Amino acid sequence: MDIKADICVVRFAELSTKGKNKKDFVRLLRKNINEAMRSFDGVKVVGSFDRIYVYLNGADDVLVLARLQQIFGISTISLAVKVEQDIEQMKDVAVALMKREPKSSFKVITRRADKTFGLVTDQINRALGTAILMNTEHVVDVHNPEIKVLVEVRPGEVYITVNTVQGAHGFPVGIQGKAMLLISGGIDSPVAGYLSNKRGIEVECVHFQSPPYTSQAALSKVMDLTRKMTAGQSEIRMHIVNFTDLQLQINHFIPESYRITIMRRMMIRIAQGLANNRKCKALITGECVGQVASQTLDSIQVISAVADLPILRPLVMFDKNDIIAIAEKIGTYDISIRPYEDCCTVFTPINPVTRPTLHKAEFYEKSFDFSPYVVECIEKAETVFVKYNEKRAEDTLF
Ligand code: ATP
Ligand code: MG
Repeated sequence: MDIKADICVVRFAELSTKGKNKKDFVRLLRKNINEAMRSFDGVKVVGSFDRIYVYLNGADDVLVLARLQQIFGISTISLAVKVEQDIEQMKDVAVALMKREPKSSFKVITRRADKTFGLVTDQINRALGTAILMNTEHVVDVHNPEIKVLVEVRPGEVYITVNTVQGAHGFPVGIQGKAMLLISGGIDSPVAGYLSNKRGIEVECVHFQSPPYTSQAALSKVMDLTRKMTAGQSEIRMHIVNFTDLQLQINHFIPESYRITIMRRMMIRIAQGLANNRKCKALITGECVGQVASQTLDSIQVISAVADLPILRPLVMFDKNDIIAIAEKIGTYDISIRPYEDCCTVFTPINPVTRPTLHKAEFYEKSFDFSPYVVECIEKAETVFVKYNEKRAEDTLF
């Protein structure tokens, strides 16, 4: 018997809050699931107090499950098969489902929401357990089973589940509001975006390009990275800033050793201008202490000094290996290692200062009025939307 699941039972993650907070959590999670399910015809999402039910209505259960596993705020997901309130049918389906599983220990656990059903919980457990024992290789373990066969008797119908898989955990994207992610073509910033999404922060992205010193290929790489991030946030607003003129002025007026520091301060000013226009509450970068010259504690201090908004640095204490492991998991690593020119690498000085001081940075910035250039970068930023693309869903699954 080839059986497909009829429903996904979604349980919530990290839900320690109560009352209104819980309502917001569930409402947002339901909205995010609804958005993610748009690419599947006929799928219906129904919320209840402690679970969300995703009715498949014929949609492919494997693909729906994989997509649900990308949505933050979900702890576990079970695929359930709907059968009639008929013990023979229940036995057949339980056996067929268990035949697909590798040899394991199991236990049948029944919840009887409909008390009018002719058999009591214990009788159902025993009937299904015996059928599974007689028709498969599985063994019973009532204390520590590898598989729990969950049977839910509801008015007029019964749901049977054998496998429960882990969700993405974290919080529904958007529950914390928005922040502006500075995204480059490197390994770190997409990982910083992913971790921010996981904590419930919706991101908008800003990318600085310096044509003709940076190529179209470099920009499409950033777009590809952002598209990967739409697995967790179905739609991302991307601001593309043309940084060339400002960078040329930096190169002209700022001593070589301070160019990176000043460039970073300009990036933060521009990102903050965009963030304020877009009601973002923080900036996010992929910076990590000690990784490169511009990421010493001294640099971080001098760069942060221009920001009024908090700068979140999710990777600040991570080792590179740990960052790479996440990048591989979310599918951004292979894109990030494609060769490209970042506006930073094109203009990288040979000897950047590793211990800049705020005093000197401010002193050098006084040598020229950079502010019209900053304003122009903010005003002329181009906005594009990067959306989850169901035709490329395979690409985005992680
Ligand atoms: P990444 O791998 O994220 O590029 P990195 O280790 O290469 O980081 P840097 O190039 O020093 O480090 O950049 C530090 C951070 O500054 C990046 O993580 C990103 O948040 C931001 N950043 C750097 N270049 C750009 C850019 N062209 N556009 C937007 N943000 C950038
Ligand atoms: Mg970089």
